[in-house]
Amino acid sequence: MPRSSPPPTSPAETPCATAPVIVWFRDDLRLADNPALSHAVASGRPVLCLFVHDPGHAFARALGGAAQWWLDGALRALRADLVRVGAVLHVARGDAATLVPQLVAQAGAAEIVWNRRYDPVGRETDTAIKAAVKEAGVAAHSFAAGVLHEPWTVRTRTGDAFRVYTAWWRAARAMGEPLPPLPAPAQVPAAPPPAAWAEQCVGIDALGLCPVAPDWAGGLRAAWQPGEARARERLHGFVHDGLAGYGDARDRPDLPATSRLSPDLRFGHVSPRQVWHEAVAAVRGGDGAGEQDLGKFLSELGWRDFAVSLLYAQPELVSGNFRTEFDAMPWRDDADDLRAWQQGRTGYPIVDAGMRQLWHTGWMHNRVRMIVASFLTKHLLMDWRVGEAWFRDTLVDADIASNVINWQWVAGCGVDAAPYFRVFNPVLQAQKFDPDGAYVRKWVPELAPLPTSCIHTPWTCDPAIRRRVAYPSPIVDLQGGRARALAAWKGLSGA
Ligand SMILES: Cc1cc2nc3c(=O)[nH]c(=O)nc-3n(C[C@H](O)[C@H](O)[C@H](O)COP(=O)(O)OP(=O)(O)OC[C@H]3O[C@@H](n4cnc5c(N)ncnc54)[C@H](O)[C@@H]3O)c2cc1C
Repeated sequence: MPRSSPPPTSPAETPCATAPVIVWFRDDLRLADNPALSHAVASGRPVLCLFVHDPGHAFARALGGAAQWWLDGALRALRADLVRVGAVLHVARGDAATLVPQLVAQAGAAEIVWNRRYDPVGRETDTAIKAAVKEAGVAAHSFAAGVLHEPWTVRTRTGDAFRVYTAWWRAARAMGEPLPPLPAPAQVPAAPPPAAWAEQCVGIDALGLCPVAPDWAGGLRAAWQPGEARARERLHGFVHDGLAGYGDARDRPDLPATSRLSPDLRFGHVSPRQVWHEAVAAVRGGDGAGEQDLGKFLSELGWRDFAVSLLYAQPELVSGNFRTEFDAMPWRDDADDLRAWQQGRTGYPIVDAGMRQLWHTGWMHNRVRMIVASFLTKHLLMDWRVGEAWFRDTLVDADIASNVINWQWVAGCGVDAAPYFRVFNPVLQAQKFDPDGAYVRKWVPELAPLPTSCIHTPWTCDPAIRRRVAYPSPIVDLQGGRARALAAWKGLSGA
């Protein structure tokens, strides 16, 4: 459905022009390029801005701890941004499927609008709410805002979903540029809050999203500031100062070479259309980056859409292997190895650096995500779902589609996946992508005194130096782990 439809409701055409329109915010916590909000403002009706924290949403896929921390800051930033344009953010808590129709009725709303989400449970919830609200005689409209191309719009000639990224990307590019982003409304005419909402709208504090005892979020606070303003700054800074060289440097965790926009995109502080158009404008405006850097960056942004479209086509991929022969994989269940991986104590510096960066900042560089995921699923032969769950709990950008699709991709059981037999060697990867060991030194400081020649292989260091460093020996032999993984894979029927 094009963003421009349905046409704004004209108050003059309706019997009760003061009946409010409700904007239901979800993964789109911004004012600019927010079609639902723009539609509400254009309707001329008073607006009620609503966020519903639904801890049970997606049950097994509920927000992890780091994402909850982010959401707290994101809601506070959105509330302040809305106040600046004259509106109020009402924050409720409960089962959205029952609560939203109730709030609509209590407000005597003429219409409710939202931007679409595409995950299986989100879609189901939205469909049910739309039906319930419409049955009560209230209009409900949804808009495209969270992806460059909605999942059903990029299809093969026979109308099927693409399973190969390069083909999907070619087809997506052939559709032309995504729509230009909408400006933020200068004013949002706030409707007075309905009296009956007081009970349900508990406010942000009551959601208890931030950890208190213990407060483990110090590293997150030091690394990030959630909200639209900071996201726009990050985007602006990246396209003007960081995009040049992205194509070559994006795999280097020791350099600040990527945008770090993933949590902003996850919570919708910026839209992918804004990212796209700002990057294109910077390059075409002669800001230093070339078409190659731009093309690479846009195609990474494309992966985000591709993951959404795969999960849309096959919701069962949330927990099921795309390649079903992997159902018989003899995954290991070893609590000690898992804990060592989670805590960054595997004895492989690049793996440990990545896992500690994740724990401290809620984010990990993409190349290192691939290395640690490969290490878990291959060298340690552990189920990708165990790793996916840990990422879900610890990433500030944890996103159901990107997380599941990437984990399956690395584990070799996914769509268009790297073949299982292609096992990342964490030492070779580290030597190639962290050549001076700067990334390892930052996140595994006990290794900082080691010479670069053995920073990625501390067990090869001069024993006199090694003895001074308190760092674990490798928990698995690389060759042995690789051989065990390949034997398990060969044992699968059809592999
Ligand atoms: C095992 C594994 C799990 C992952 N889980 C998540 C997740 O839960 N949430 C998440 O947003 N990303 C996930 N990714 C993808 C990727 O690692 C991050 O999006 C990226 O590291 C974010 O850094 P950036 O914003 O600096 O990326 P940039 O290189 O600046 O890329 C720009 C944007 O493109 C998108 N993007 C880039 N690479 C990918 C990719 N491989 N898949 C999907 N989108 C991509 C992101 O939205 C990113 O912000 C995962 C990757 C792996 C290997």
